Amino acid sequence: MGNIVAIVGRPNVGKSTLFNRLTGTRKAIVNETAGVTRDRNYGKADWNGTEFSLIDTGGFSVNSDDVFEDEIRKQVMLAIDESDAILFVLDVQHGITDFDEAVAKILRRTKKKVYVVANKADNSDLIFAANEFYSLGIGEVIYPISSVNGSGTGDMLDAVVADF
Ligand code: GDP
Ligand code: MG
Repeated sequence: MGNIVAIVGRPNVGKSTLFNRLTGTRKAIVNETAGVTRDRNYGKADWNGTEFSLIDTGGFSVNSDDVFEDEIRKQVMLAIDESDAILFVLDVQHGITDFDEAVAKILRRTKKKVYVVANKADNSDLIFAANEFYSLGIGEVIYPISSVNGSGTGDMLDAVVADF
């Protein structure tokens, strides 16, 4: 098994934007509408000469507010099964939702490495706000990143490839 990293999180946190940045493609569909990535996208990424496979998950078929916990569990369990490490993406501009809590609950139980990624931390105030995600009780470090401007992704990737 190679190094496979899955991007997990509720709709609209920026998973596909992150996938596209890390794979250097525009393959994943990025949309304002929650839940638009129906199928999984598979791509290759490279960080300082270390190659890994990336999976962009999506396809929650209902909107974030009324999604069934069963469906969340199915999606996240599938991502865990398929991967060696998980990027758990959250939206720092939106804060913690019930949906995030439900995903965190499942991820807390896995033995696989989980990196908590505070996306949309586009400026220093938002980078500071990312500390709220420590309350999820998952991962030792929160990685504030901006998938749009790329900030923070280097530190995050350093940590990910160091654990391969
Ligand atoms: P997904 O549903 O988790 O795959 O989320 P998408 O990648 O489709 O992004 C949802 C929305 O968030 C889009 O409008 C993106 O442009 C926006 N977005 C993604 N990453 C960032 C970011 O780092 N900063 C900001 N400000 N917006 C972002
Ligand atoms: Mg998507």
